[in-house]
Amino acid sequence: MPYDPSSRSDDRQWVEGEWKCAECGTAITKLPFNPDPARLDQLKCRDCHRKSLPPRRDFR
Ligand SMILES: [Zn+2]
Repeated sequence: MPYDPSSRSDDRQWVEGEWKCAECGTAITKLPFNPDPARLDQLKCRDCHRKSLPPRRDFR
């Protein structure tokens, strides 16, 4: 079995489609995962997704 280094960098599969961000309405054409059909109306673009993440707790 030949080792193919090119297949390694491509392990993230982008799913192309036509979706809309539920937050800001931005068109989403690519997702790094297969969206759940039941949650298509809850999709968020990258920016909104980042905003929806809980803020990191900083240890002082
Ligand atoms: Zn958005």
